[in-house]
Amino acid sequence: MTAVLGDITAAGEDVDVNIDELGTVLESLSKNEGVAEAKTAISSAIKITRDISEKNSILEVSLRRSSAEIERLRGNMEVLRLKAYTDGLTGIANRKSFDQVLKQSTINAMEDGTSLCLMMIDIDHFKAFNDTHGHQVDDLVLRLLAATLRENVKGQDTPARYGGEEFAVILPNTQLVDAMTVAETLRKAISRKNLRDKKSGNDMGRIAISAGVTSFQYGEAVGQFIYRTDQALYHAKNTGRDKVCSDNDIDTTVAHHEI
Ligand code: GH3
Ligand code: MG
Ligand code: MG
Repeated sequence: MTAVLGDITAAGEDVDVNIDELGTVLESLSKNEGVAEAKTAISSAIKITRDISEKNSILEVSLRRSSAEIERLRGNMEVLRLKAYTDGLTGIANRKSFDQVLKQSTINAMEDGTSLCLMMIDIDHFKAFNDTHGHQVDDLVLRLLAATLRENVKGQDTPARYGGEEFAVILPNTQLVDAMTVAETLRKAISRKNLRDKKSGNDMGRIAISAGVTSFQYGEAVGQFIYRTDQALYHAKNTGRDKVCSDNDIDTTVAHHEI
């Protein structure tokens, strides 16, 4: 790239010199000297013009090379940008991406007056599963869960790995009742999958997930939205696991008395 820019600058300077020379020649022509002088001046002018045209061709090649180089760099940057926003293990959005998309989704929901839902998912008793089956298999389970999320959400929804074995789905333009249905479909889809270790052929049973779902309240902070969704998830955990709860399921009168 630097070499190309160097070529372009050098060619530009050369052409400047040629144009100065051409000016001098044309000036001598205008002085109406003899025919011999005019002939010399004209042949000089032709030579200088040819020079300029040659340098232009070189410049054109350099510009073509540089625009190809810029395209290549732009492609590289796009690959790096995608990588920075993707979870390496599962290939879905990572936490950084989740934070950005959620923030933007709350802004859109407020601007458009649309309903936005958030779902947080946590694998049930994953520690016990880890302890029994070891790390390589755990990674497969996380990949399987991510793939199931991808299969079961619509294009406008964003499934993400929130952290460790916790996942989230951002659902724009979605009412709470519909987000609950999506979560329930996911829960059932996961619980139907029988896990088998391909190498040993061992049956590893099934995994279950719990999920919390809430609807964005106009004007609330993103952190508060996440917190309420987390509370719904913990309610699902505390009331039996392998289930989906919304914040409507939490008995707020109890919380009120505890304060
Ligand atoms: P439950 O959610 O049902 O309360 O029980 P749990 O055993 O799944 O507990 P928790 O949600 O607190 O999960 C923490 C455990 O999940 C710890 C660790 O064994 C496992 N875990 C968390 N993150 C990862 C991860 O990135 N990879 C793997 N392989 N395991 C993880
Ligand atoms: Mg967890
Ligand atoms: Mg868990």
